[in-house]
Amino acid sequence: MTFKTHIIFAESLALPPALYLYLNHTLSLEHLALYGATVAVGSLLPDLDHSRSFISKRVPFIPYLLSLFTHHRGFTHSMQGIIFIGMFLTILVLAKYLPRLLAIGFFVGYVLHIVGDAMTLAGIKNFCCKKGFYLLPKFLRFKTGSKIERFYFFLFSAILLAELSLTHPQFFKYAKELTAHVTLQDIQETLAQSIGDIKRLFFHSINFVNHSR
Ligand SMILES: [Zn+2]
Repeated sequence: MTFKTHIIFAESLALPPALYLYLNHTLSLEHLALYGATVAVGSLLPDLDHSRSFISKRVPFIPYLLSLFTHHRGFTHSMQGIIFIGMFLTILVLAKYLPRLLAIGFFVGYVLHIVGDAMTLAGIKNFCCKKGFYLLPKFLRFKTGSKIERFYFFLFSAILLAELSLTHPQFFKYAKELTAHVTLQDIQETLAQSIGDIKRLFFHSINFVNHSR
């Protein structure tokens, strides 16, 4: 998954409980925004093990240190990696270096990154078992940066926008401003591309079912 899809995917799954607390006045708008920001950062952290990833280009030393003892989708994408980051965040919270809400945001984002990678064709080889960790059946997995991933990106963007708009009508205004200069042609092209992707996915699944008979 590219960094944009990781962020959108993680936010669309991580925000609903926080939006619910916000609607119940248990969480302020500022805390909601901070939580959303930490989910985004957490959803990029595991790719610090890849020297050319979006986050590695912005963080000094750590990608180099990680490259000394692990490879891409190695330790940071493993069960041990999740336990390690969970313990590290717990220590920071207990030592009062990090508010609990933000630690939760980082952790949820981190775990959702692993879930996102497990949806791809490559999957996660060293997660828990020798067979690797794959979340989707073979015919639904996609290649990082492919058109099918773009389809998932649009799908999760729409889900996220719907969640935000339902919570806060003000977001409708932002969405309108964001899409103000989108032309009809852009929408037609995107739709045509998505329909093409869905068709391919459909024929893929039929082939898969036929082969497994
Ligand atoms: Zn990754």
